[in-house]
Amino acid sequence: MQSIQIVRAGQDAAAGASLDTPRYIRMHANDNVAIVVNDGGLKAGAVFADGLTLLGAVPQGHKVALSDVRQGEPVTRYNVTIGYAACDIAAGSWVSEANLRMPDALELSGLPIATRAAPVMEPLEGYTFEGYRNADGSVGTRNILAITTTVQCVSGVVDHAVRRIKETLLPLYPNVDDVVGLEHSYGCGVAIEAPGADIPIRTLRNISQNPNFGGQAMVVSLGCEKLQPARLFPKGSIPILNGREPATVCLQDAGHVGFMSMIDSIVATADEQLKVLNARRRETCSAADLVVGVQCGGSDAFSGVTANPAVGYATDLLVRAGATVMFSEVTEVRDGIDQLTSRAADPEVAAAMIREMEWYDAYLKRGGVDRSANTTPGNKAGGLSNIVEKAMGSIVKSGSSAISGVLSPGEKLGARRGLIYAATPASDFICGTLQVAAGMNIHVFTTGRGTPYGLAPVPVIKVATRNDLARRWHDLMDVNAGRIASGEATIEDVGWELFRLMLDVASGRQTWAEHWKLHNALTLFNPAPVT
Ligand code: CA
Repeated sequence: MQSIQIVRAGQDAAAGASLDTPRYIRMHANDNVAIVVNDGGLKAGAVFADGLTLLGAVPQGHKVALSDVRQGEPVTRYNVTIGYAACDIAAGSWVSEANLRMPDALELSGLPIATRAAPVMEPLEGYTFEGYRNADGSVGTRNILAITTTVQCVSGVVDHAVRRIKETLLPLYPNVDDVVGLEHSYGCGVAIEAPGADIPIRTLRNISQNPNFGGQAMVVSLGCEKLQPARLFPKGSIPILNGREPATVCLQDAGHVGFMSMIDSIVATADEQLKVLNARRRETCSAADLVVGVQCGGSDAFSGVTANPAVGYATDLLVRAGATVMFSEVTEVRDGIDQLTSRAADPEVAAAMIREMEWYDAYLKRGGVDRSANTTPGNKAGGLSNIVEKAMGSIVKSGSSAISGVLSPGEKLGARRGLIYAATPASDFICGTLQVAAGMNIHVFTTGRGTPYGLAPVPVIKVATRNDLARRWHDLMDVNAGRIASGEATIEDVGWELFRLMLDVASGRQTWAEHWKLHNALTLFNPAPVT
């Protein structure tokens, strides 16, 4: 991966220039475009300190040509070709989707395999947090009772029961943080024997074992659904952390007469689980016990300049501390797969990465689209012209360590440690759900356009890419990486701030999403047919 070098026109803003002075950021000395930094963008005639003059207005975050680019020549950002000029582009022009032709996806054969030695990084020792250690060695950052459901049919009943548990039981168990119904739209009306059905089923099975749930599992089933409890947790091979069978309540059991019988049964079962969870205590754990899932959503052109590089710096700190970091989002790494296969720790890891890309290419093709279906109207308004440019900014979240393992969607981390590629869709909720299944205990989420995203099972730390977003959403964003663009902080500063905040949050400090109880629905990835 290229090292990120922020080149500002003229004097650094921090060195006294006004924030109104026209400024751009170039990501690499070889780039022939740069993005406009100024809030509100710049008007035609704006002159940068190096003499470059804008020929037309350019919005904030959008690209300006630094030199003349002839039709057909590459347009380069991050030292990568993000497109080809669709017409002659004069220096000082706005470069956007309108005058760029997107490159084809990279071939998945002939890629560089484990060719790049990881930079030598000194181990980082002595960093700890206060977590809940589980019997299997995993560590929770929260103490939550999860109620697994086998099918959407039971959701209304489980919601009702959860409300009652929170009102009547939770106050009796002060060491338990929350009660969460693991509700989803899967379980029936699906082709459960289809090969792709493995993914939603193992996802749900593994979510139920997230370290924050302390190895206690209880299940609410309807009775007639395709996803029977025995299929979700097969007998004898139940990987429940404490080795106990999950307690199950079946709503169609003949013993239930009336709605309140079902509710009483769920509440009584929850009471038994809460007694066990309430005995958990935080203890000092090494930073190596963190399992951090990183992703981005509502990205803009600053994502790859401020927030994601700061996350990448923090990722390197975590790996140095022995922790595990998962990065994901297949369509947002597909155009940089050569960077990733070259960083694989060994050929098996590279082969697994290629296998995941091939699977996803085929999945998209079945739906009649390709990776270009990823970008949103908001991405484009934020300056990202296409998926190639977006991917280059997304990959930097992975830092610079060697990639030591690969997870397929819904798989559990198991014994894997270090920097892991967890293959998931880029969809925020699906990616987050799959990272919960993999076993993350802290989630870091960067956003440029702004999203109030949060998850009930795992604390989410949100990082803003721009000062303007951080100012307006001051009680939703936990970290402001926009200070990197304005010259008030460096990537290293924000990376360390994020690393320290992760340890605090892992120890119990609330994020804004937790403060407001903002919880997006768990969304299972089901590539198989519904019936
Ligand atoms: Ca995402």
